[in-house]
Amino acid sequence: MNITLTNTAQKLCVIGDPVTHSKSPLLQNAMCQALGLDYVYLCQPVKPERLGAFLVAARELGYAGFNATMPFKELLIPYLDGLDPLAEKLGAVNTVCIKDGKLYGYNTDCPGYVAALRTGGFDPAGKRVLLLGAGGAAKAVALGLGEAGAACVTVANRTAARAQAVADLIPGQGRTAAWNAEALAAEAAGCDLIVNATSLGMAGQGAFDDLSFLEALPRGAWVSDLIYHPARTAFLAQGEALGHPAVNGLPLLTHQAILALEKFAGVEVPPEKVVPILEPLLTQS
Ligand code: NAP
Repeated sequence: MNITLTNTAQKLCVIGDPVTHSKSPLLQNAMCQALGLDYVYLCQPVKPERLGAFLVAARELGYAGFNATMPFKELLIPYLDGLDPLAEKLGAVNTVCIKDGKLYGYNTDCPGYVAALRTGGFDPAGKRVLLLGAGGAAKAVALGLGEAGAACVTVANRTAARAQAVADLIPGQGRTAAWNAEALAAEAAGCDLIVNATSLGMAGQGAFDDLSFLEALPRGAWVSDLIYHPARTAFLAQGEALGHPAVNGLPLLTHQAILALEKFAGVEVPPEKVVPILEPLLTQS
């Protein structure tokens, strides 16, 4: 992708360790180019012990903001001057805006996941969800679904204590289930949406031993996998083979980026204008 760089371009970046795999520079530069926003977005490796030094440099160099990936989503919180209530509840930020030398943190993963579902045609309001996994991504999904009015989010995870912590984020909506084939099948039978937020099925990671619980899903239930590499996991392929609408992790990736750019630039970024540009870039890269 060619970008036009001006001498007045405002600077943005993504920090992480590691970070060179990040799609954020590709997405953000493409959106800025398409919308005529005068920004340049870089990939910035930062070691955790150098976070304080990076923040001093970002302020000094006049950065407008940055996104954060592992391991900075939680580590950044003590450094912030202001924190969005959703990010505070989650204890994690992925977007930081710098204004007058002050750092303001947001989390666009929660609303990004809900926007991805709605754009695909699924409205979580009043729906019953079975959420597999209890890591950082599962927390954002649970909180996003809770805020969007899901009737019930049942969290199942290999490590039960972590499932309980995720369910506790949304009192009155969150509950837990055991991590075994029988329990998953019983829960799947009563849900409108099942979400894989574990790393099982991701390239280079482990895989589900048994996906038979998907056979218990009621007709019309949706299947969502946060993974986008590969684009079609065994979980998603099995759900589709059983006739369920299926959504992979790419819409979450694009919608959290759209919402982050809205925070950075203070403008509305219409998904219908940028998604058709971003999707081919992601499937080609
Ligand atoms: P994480 O914090 O490391 O959590 C990993 C989760 O997977 C935990 O629930 C863990 O269970 C579970 N898990 C790992 N190995 C397992 C195994 N062998 N058997 C059963 N469960 C296992 O990771 P994360 O940041 O939440 O990310 C989770 C997935 O979401 C990743 O595949 C990531 O690529 C994807 N993701 C996608 C997007 C997107 O934009 N589409 C954004 C963020 C993440 P324990 O708690 O028992 O360890």
